[in-house]
Amino acid sequence: MHWLFGDQLGPHFLGPDEGGPGRDTPLLMIESRAVFRRRRFHRAKAHLVLSAMRHRAAELGDRVTYVRADTYREGLERAAGGRPVTVRHPTSYAALRLVRALPGVTVGAARGFLVPTARFARWADGHGGKRLRQEDFYHWVRREHGLLMDGDAPAGDHWNLDHDNREPPPHDPTLEVKAPYRPREDEIDDEVRRDLDRWEREGDVRFVGRDGPRRFPATRAEALRALRRFVEHRLATFGPYEDAMLAADPVMSHSLLSSSLNLGLLDPAECVERAEAAWRAGRAPLNSVEGFVRQIAGWREYVWQLYWYFGEEYRRFNELRHTAALPEWWTELDADAVRANCLRTVLAQVRDTGWTHHIPRLMVLGSHALQRGWDPAAVTDWFHRCFVDGYDWVMVPNVVGMSQYADGGRMTTKPYTSGGAYVHRMSDLCGGCDYRPGDRTGDRACPYTAGYWAFLDRHRERLAGNQRVARPVRQLDRLADLDDVRKQERARGDAPP
Ligand code: FAD
Repeated sequence: MHWLFGDQLGPHFLGPDEGGPGRDTPLLMIESRAVFRRRRFHRAKAHLVLSAMRHRAAELGDRVTYVRADTYREGLERAAGGRPVTVRHPTSYAALRLVRALPGVTVGAARGFLVPTARFARWADGHGGKRLRQEDFYHWVRREHGLLMDGDAPAGDHWNLDHDNREPPPHDPTLEVKAPYRPREDEIDDEVRRDLDRWEREGDVRFVGRDGPRRFPATRAEALRALRRFVEHRLATFGPYEDAMLAADPVMSHSLLSSSLNLGLLDPAECVERAEAAWRAGRAPLNSVEGFVRQIAGWREYVWQLYWYFGEEYRRFNELRHTAALPEWWTELDADAVRANCLRTVLAQVRDTGWTHHIPRLMVLGSHALQRGWDPAAVTDWFHRCFVDGYDWVMVPNVVGMSQYADGGRMTTKPYTSGGAYVHRMSDLCGGCDYRPGDRTGDRACPYTAGYWAFLDRHRERLAGNQRVARPVRQLDRLADLDDVRKQERARGDAPP
């Protein structure tokens, strides 16, 4: 038997290469209720994952044994009964430990990424190991895969077109671009929803967030439709406003493909190849295509590699010694309790959809958590549970490293946090807010602006030596109201801003 995990759902997981099943090998899928009992997931995420698994089982028909069990171990015993089982390399340390400990299970190569982890390890070791640069890695992947290359040179003669891709948002409330693909639910979705209702009624499983109509693909066919719609109608405008935020248009030109990639419904290679083909056919400009390719072949791939390269202890890194617990208004996604327009808007997006794009994650949610000094492991867990695309491998580097600087700079060269001025420049979220981005103290002091200075102040010794933030750290001594900022921020505690 070959066991398919719930994030191994596309055809590329069934290829007959190393670790894959033979053409007629019977397949096994296990739905474990304990997974949902252990952690309080966003309901839309639970719905998406179960819907995708059950849709895949329906497609595979008689070839698959679909087991609903309490735990994976129990499901495996019931279905395989001691027969040998193969499985592809799972995507988390916990799952890898489990499959390695189970009798009769052979673990094969991973799928769904561009570079084998052993090749990455050789590359990283050759680059000093400790302080790797995503940009170097990205160039290497482009060369290795011949992505957006003209001979030996990058297409357009530049590796990085970010200077064309950092535009503030347009003045309109929404981006004039064709709406993203949204799936239509079917009877499998209804069945999943009834099961989730029952689990909640039975009292052992609790969810957070709202579960509206399913917004993300659950099948390969739906994911391909989403990819096609993006490449044909939305890729061209992806680049310029990639970092911008609009209150009334949370998606803008983002692809919404992360959950499909992470469920294994899409292969990253096909996504970047289609984007490149659109550029070569003159249907999308290079800055947008390069920006998109960078996200997938650069960032997504890098994050996967670092998860394994940095090792399991990385998740416990806490260089800034942040230990505060997440407050209830945050864990309950109680956006209505928040006055700050940006945070209220973004938290409501998480509550209602389980998704926001990368800048709200980094510069609104993550930045607030960092400024408040919340425990990075708890922040990682929160992101993992509340986002439809959240999995251990992708959350640990993105949150511990990228967003919370808990690794002291192994992944990024500076902490990603800012005052309200950044949010104001890159969004329309400050308009009509009770707070003013320029105010550090007083009734209308922007919590991000005050929080930024208080954060720098708390960590000034560590950050003074960091070239990228040394200037604002030096500025601290020129702030006449620094004491007031300190007092105000202490008084704010973990109340909703
Ligand atoms: P687009 O903006 O259209 O980008 C295209 C694709 O690039 C995405 O679909 C995704 O597959 C990939 N990508 C881009 N950046 C990253 C990255 N840093 N890590 C992994 N993939 C990336 N992405 C996840 O897939 N799962 C997560 O749990 C996740 N957590 C994040 C937490 C934080 C604090 C931050 C800052 C980023 C996180 N990201 C995560 C990355 C990124 O925010 C999402 O991939 C993206 O917002 C998904 O929307 P999209 O598909 O429209 O992406």
